[in-house]
Amino acid sequence: ASYSTGKKDTFYFKDLEVTHSTTQKALVPKEQLKFGHGFTDHMLEVEWTRTGGWGTPRIVPFHNLSLSPAASVLHYSLECFEGSKAYRGDDGKIRLFRLEDNMKRMNASSSYLALPEFDTKEAAKCIQELVRIDNRFVPEGLGYSLYLRPTMIATEDALGVSESNSALFYTIANPTGPYFPTGFKAVKLYADTEHVRAWPGGTGNKKLGANYCGGTTPTLLAKEKGYSQILWLFGPQHNITEAGTMNAFIFWINEQGVLELLTPKLDGTILPGITRDSILKMARKWGEFQVTEGSINMEQVLQASREGRIKEFFGAGTACVISPVKEIGYAGNDIHIPLDINDPSSETGPLAKRIYNEIMNIQYGNTPSEWTTVV
Ligand code: PMP
Repeated sequence: ASYSTGKKDTFYFKDLEVTHSTTQKALVPKEQLKFGHGFTDHMLEVEWTRTGGWGTPRIVPFHNLSLSPAASVLHYSLECFEGSKAYRGDDGKIRLFRLEDNMKRMNASSSYLALPEFDTKEAAKCIQELVRIDNRFVPEGLGYSLYLRPTMIATEDALGVSESNSALFYTIANPTGPYFPTGFKAVKLYADTEHVRAWPGGTGNKKLGANYCGGTTPTLLAKEKGYSQILWLFGPQHNITEAGTMNAFIFWINEQGVLELLTPKLDGTILPGITRDSILKMARKWGEFQVTEGSINMEQVLQASREGRIKEFFGAGTACVISPVKEIGYAGNDIHIPLDINDPSSETGPLAKRIYNEIMNIQYGNTPSEWTTVV
């Protein structure tokens, strides 16, 4: 259940006030762009109080925040965020991809923390204006993008574990390069039987900062063992939930002998990824194989691997679109995942590659789609 602030309150794009930065940051050469490092000249900010509702949306020079050291974001992690990107196509136009869906997901996260919601269209329009103003930071080239980080924090100047009576919504933007600068690089996942990311009745289906901090040590331990990410499991059956900070997909011949693309169903422990949803819609439209939101456990994966029924395994998310998996370490077993049986040097399976290309073509404007908005 979510707690609503009880107000159908929002801020509006028409009220947006812009203060331009008097200085311009130097653009980082494309080859040196690093995800999450370096931000544009401006940011979007909107303040909220429980009594007064939303304030005026403002685009202002990028700046550090001034917060009370008591602010509940700093103590009880009353915070949620989003991740979306702006892409510059060959035609020079900048496009947003399903940003309003990110705003909907943010409302679900925010209201769960008893923080405010907003009109998703109005918020998306304000963020679009930030991208327009900082458009010189949107790099050219396939795989390059401007990463957008909408964020909601609880700012009340008081300790005590309870709802916050004030909040700040802001968005910052980070120019970033391709996830796979030299082409796909298939990864090894560590199926962790000790640590749990999310559980029934918990917050795994929201994008709360609190969901990520618990992964720090487990991920470092997995990296020490030579894996790049954790394959998160849940329950005595070791059901697959997510792959690092991506949704997990398996393409296999299932126990009924049916060719199937399967991803864990949204049972409350899975983040409803926008890439996940895009892949499901795309694959269902193709109609070439069964597409299932279901469940799969590690014993099934082991058995399928022994019987040669696994065709591909990949993670999916905004950062990389698709991340092919070549190996899963599980309870002392190294489960080898085939990539491309026709090309031993390939770092991706044909389905992963096809999905990747189709989504990129939409994001960069080569394929017209209602999922994109030109800035
Ligand atoms: N799962 C988790 C835990 C994530 O952090 C993300 C990234 N937001 C995803 C899945 C993929 O979601 P999306 O496709 O919306 O980026």
